[in-house]
Amino acid sequence: MHEMSDALGRIQPSRTNAMTDRAFALREGGADILSLSVGEPDFPTPPHVVAACKAALDAGDTRYTPVPGTARLRGAAALHFERDLGLAVPPAQIIVSAGGKQSIFLALLATLNPGDEVLIPAPWWVSYPEIVRFAGATVVPIPTDPAGGFRITPDQLATAITPRTRWLLLNSPGNPTGATYSADDLVALGEVLRAHPRVMVMSDDIYAPLRYTPGRHATIAVECPDLAPRVLTISGVSKSHAMTGFRIGVAAGPAWLIAAMGRLQSHVSGNACSISQAGAVAAFEGPQDFLLDWRDRFRARRDMCVAAINAIPGLSTPVPDGAFYCMIDAAPLMHRFADDEALAMHLLDHGVAIVAASAFGGEYCGFRGFRISFAADEAKLTEALRRIARALV
Ligand code: GLU
Repeated sequence: MHEMSDALGRIQPSRTNAMTDRAFALREGGADILSLSVGEPDFPTPPHVVAACKAALDAGDTRYTPVPGTARLRGAAALHFERDLGLAVPPAQIIVSAGGKQSIFLALLATLNPGDEVLIPAPWWVSYPEIVRFAGATVVPIPTDPAGGFRITPDQLATAITPRTRWLLLNSPGNPTGATYSADDLVALGEVLRAHPRVMVMSDDIYAPLRYTPGRHATIAVECPDLAPRVLTISGVSKSHAMTGFRIGVAAGPAWLIAAMGRLQSHVSGNACSISQAGAVAAFEGPQDFLLDWRDRFRARRDMCVAAINAIPGLSTPVPDGAFYCMIDAAPLMHRFADDEALAMHLLDHGVAIVAASAFGGEYCGFRGFRISFAADEAKLTEALRRIARALV
């Protein structure tokens, strides 16, 4: 009676979402829990976005939209891809989904068969391998390390590709490590990919506005234009514009893939929320200058967290080049815990919610510890880090 599908049996619930829900529940029960588990900006959603949503409601934009998104939002997303990522793409090659996560899910489910292999640099974002497994395909981890900036090398890529490889998943700046690929890095990876025409590339650029290194953001469809016909580029407004709850992601890629994703989406959510789509138009078309201030705030928080973590005996973290996470190595302390989930529970008992490194495939690179999100205000970060230090003395 309680039998699940084989596909569901292959996956675990999202551990970022699970830890955040646990923190919510404990707080509702009166516990004093500071959550650094989920990655979402604490800044208020910009007022012009909120105003656009109210106007959409008043105008009666409360019905179904076309499956791939409103013409207005696909146009605004095309503006965003070109202005912010340097990627010129017609609106017809863009699909709007209920969050970047849904776009990723659609693309993988629409293209993978059992036996296909998907290359994922580890540490990885929690949902990548789970979606691949749900699709019945095989996850092939490519381990990275702090010394190499958590980036894969062309040699590693060349060795990992087999005749069954279908996708390479790239995430730059990356969650959970902040790994950021330069234009030269991508050109070198592109050189390897050129010899393997069956391999598609998913470039998850959702953190592009949160890059702390100088110079422009680099993305593979731009650096290797000849590969663009097999690249799907993921973006959105959740992280950039503090709109996580709106659930709007956008994906740009070859027409056949966008159509395939739409075919699947028509049976899943139909379309993304009409009001959220109106808000996303305002986000993409409205002022962008405040994003630089936000980025500077995140950079200052990053520096504060990195210094505080590295001052705690047994913990260390490199300086992330992008996104808003610190991947913290706790190996010297792990003899005190059964595993890093036990460490996470110990920290929760001390009032801080974080996510264990194993949720991000840490074990594939010998990484034991946990991830914090520094997308929280300075006072909360200071207190949370104080609690972590106290819990680990
Ligand atoms: N991507 C964010 C994180 O890693 C949001 C939660 C999720 O969907 O995993 O925390």
